[in-house]
Amino acid sequence: MIKKVLSVKGFEGLRIVYRTKMGDGVYGMCTGSQNLIELSLKQNTTQEMMDSSLFHELLHLTIYKAGWSEILETNSVVEEGLVIMLENSLKQIVKFEYEEIENNTKVN
Ligand SMILES: [Zn+2]
Repeated sequence: MIKKVLSVKGFEGLRIVYRTKMGDGVYGMCTGSQNLIELSLKQNTTQEMMDSSLFHELLHLTIYKAGWSEILETNSVVEEGLVIMLENSLKQIVKFEYEEIENNTKVN
């Protein structure tokens, strides 16, 4: 487990954990109630993929913070479809920036 704390505008207190072990085909996970995003080091093999997965999970967090996760049901096909739609359109017009403010490396 590699834990980084990133500062992302609008997402104060967000914790990012980079996992060496996650489910097959899982690039990232968002646990909104814990303000936590987990990213797979196995699946995201380039920085571009990592940034793309982080952006994707931030959109899930946005839906959670807006209170829509309960309406859409967590991990529902509808929420995933919305996130992918927003991701594909927003990445064309949004410059995604973040700043690393802490890095703790732990081996579990
Ligand atoms: Zn998703």
